[in-house]
Amino acid sequence: MKLISANWKMNMTPSQTKEYLYNFLPLVEDVKDREILLCVPYTSLCIASEMLKDKHVKFGAQNVHYEPKGAFTGEISVSMLKDLGVSYVIVGHSERRWLFGESDEIINKKLIACLGSGIRPILCVGERQDEREAGLTFKVIETQVKLALSSLEDYTDMIDIAYEPVWAIGSGNPATPEDAQKVHRFIKELLESLNKNYKGTTRILYGGSVNIHNASEFMKMPDIDGLLVGGASLDPEAFSQIVKSF
Ligand code: PGA
Repeated sequence: MKLISANWKMNMTPSQTKEYLYNFLPLVEDVKDREILLCVPYTSLCIASEMLKDKHVKFGAQNVHYEPKGAFTGEISVSMLKDLGVSYVIVGHSERRWLFGESDEIINKKLIACLGSGIRPILCVGERQDEREAGLTFKVIETQVKLALSSLEDYTDMIDIAYEPVWAIGSGNPATPEDAQKVHRFIKELLESLNKNYKGTTRILYGGSVNIHNASEFMKMPDIDGLLVGGASLDPEAFSQIVKSF
C-alpha cells in the first residue's frame, strides 16, 4: 500500500495536535486504500495515541535513541515509543544528520534498535546541493543506504526509505518527478543487490517541498511509493488533499 506521511518537525503543541486531529480525521475518514501516517513531536505522541486508537490513521516519531535504557539524559528509547503504540519512526532525517551531527554509524544503530522491536523505520537519505552539482547524487545515496543497512541486509523488507534531496527540503524547489524516479529506481536496484531474498516490500517515499500542486505528479511515477511531507502537512486541509491527490 502507498504510504503518505507527515513530518511535523518541531511544530505543534499537544493542544494544537488535538485540534489538528479533530479537523483532519473527518477529512480522511473514507481513505482506506493507502496508509496515512503522522510523524509528530515526542510531546504529541500521547495525545495522538489516545485520539488515533482504533483509527486507520497511524502515528510515528521523528527520532529515537538506539540504547534500550539508562543514563542518556533527554533521549527516548524504542520501548518507550512502542508502549505508546508508535508504529513508525523517521531515522536519519537530513536535519538530524546536518544540524545534530548524526553519523551513518548512529543511524545504523538506530535501525538495528527499531528492527529489534517491530517499529518500522523510515530511513531518510539524500544528497546536498554541492554533491548534486558535483554529479555525486547516486554515489551519496548508495553510500548512505549501504552504511545505514550495514549488517541489516537480510532485513531490508522491514524498512521504508525516504529519498529527500537536502536542497529540496523546505526550499520550495522540489526535485522533478522524473529525477526523483531515477533515484528511486536506483535505490530499489540497490536493495535487490544487497538482499538476495528481497521481496520488494520497502516503500521508497519522496520528500522535499511536496505540496498540493505537485503531489499527484510524484505519485504517477512507477517507483515513487509514497510521500514524506513537511511544511505542507501542518495544515490539516492541505495534508488531506495531498493524501487524496492520486
Ligand atoms: P518539506 O520537508 O516538505 O517542508 O520540504 C520534508 C521533510 O523534511 O521531510
